[in-house]
Amino acid sequence: MTTGTSRTTTGTGRTAAGTPEPTRADGADQAEDAGQAGCADAAERADQAARADRVRGCLLGGALGDALGWPVEFQRLERILDRHGPEGVRSLAFAPGGLAEVTDDTQMTLFTAEGLLQAGEATSAAVLPAVHAAYRRWLRTQCEAVPQPDATGLLAEAWLYASRAPGNACLSGLEAHVTPPAALPVALGRRGPVNPDSKGCGTVMRSAPFGLLGLGPDRAFRLAADCAQLTHGHPTGALAAGAFAALVDRLVGGAEPRAAVVATIAQTAGLPGAEETVADLERAVRIADEGVPDFDAVERVGLGWIAEECLAIGVHGLLAAAETGPRRALTLSVTHSGDSDSTGSVCGNLLGAAYGAAALPQDWLDQIEGTETLLRIADLLVATSSRP
Ligand SMILES: [Mg+2]
Repeated sequence: MTTGTSRTTTGTGRTAAGTPEPTRADGADQAEDAGQAGCADAAERADQAARADRVRGCLLGGALGDALGWPVEFQRLERILDRHGPEGVRSLAFAPGGLAEVTDDTQMTLFTAEGLLQAGEATSAAVLPAVHAAYRRWLRTQCEAVPQPDATGLLAEAWLYASRAPGNACLSGLEAHVTPPAALPVALGRRGPVNPDSKGCGTVMRSAPFGLLGLGPDRAFRLAADCAQLTHGHPTGALAAGAFAALVDRLVGGAEPRAAVVATIAQTAGLPGAEETVADLERAVRIADEGVPDFDAVERVGLGWIAEECLAIGVHGLLAAAETGPRRALTLSVTHSGDSDSTGSVCGNLLGAAYGAAALPQDWLDQIEGTETLLRIADLLVATSSRP
């Protein structure tokens, strides 16, 4: 993909033939310049390595939150605490195969990434059909039992052919249209033609990859919002997805979490139809500012079935992590009466984007399915991105 944000790398120090012999002072200056160039190269490599770790962390963290929340997705808080104890969900549930399962949140996130990688360029005209085609491939994994013999890419990965409570609007919106409706994308704040009243969290939980290409917050926002309309027509579904992608972009770019949240709220507030999304983001910040977070605080942020609440719970967890660390923040993001796997997934995306894969609980990462694929796709996104 051409992202159009190439940054010039540090010069290679080539010497032109026939250059006069330098004086001692010139030589000292050149040595100093060369030393500074070497330092700049080393600093840039360190920046790139840190960014790559955050991209990996974003995808791995999302899968972790998804796997942690999936077993309690439809349980009330009291029942979760009865079963898991007063500290909430602190362990993964294992499938017969021995690993903890991820769900449609992680599956669709991977297909979003595959669509972006195949789009060729980061424009809505290129991305909308490519991501739609990728989501239609995901739809096949929900309808077919195993890969076809000639399957390629993610469609060839048998572990993705699992149907674990996928969202109705995602399924129906993709079933209804073989290609993106001609009316898409509609302007922000306007109602789209696909499931026009839906603003389920399916638009948010799959949209982290829009923020992983180094496009900058405005372009990440716009592409995520446009692609949200492929399945959900309510304006808030698009705006919450856009805000999520813009926040991921800022975090992966190295912004401090609270500053990134504040900037994303300001960005979103300037857009038409953003009232619901901004109100929920501001509530998440306010409740995070109250002090040591608990499960009741999370439920006051929301339950996560709808897009803006799902994003808000993720943001609350991101801000809480400054006090609690990522492990406790993940527990908080899933231990509630709402859509635990999606809120866990979004929170995990944000935590990984902010703090990197190295900061995520390694014992949990060792126990979830799909990590090889997640890492491979993360590294392809890093290679495609041109912003360190
Ligand atoms: Mg799910």
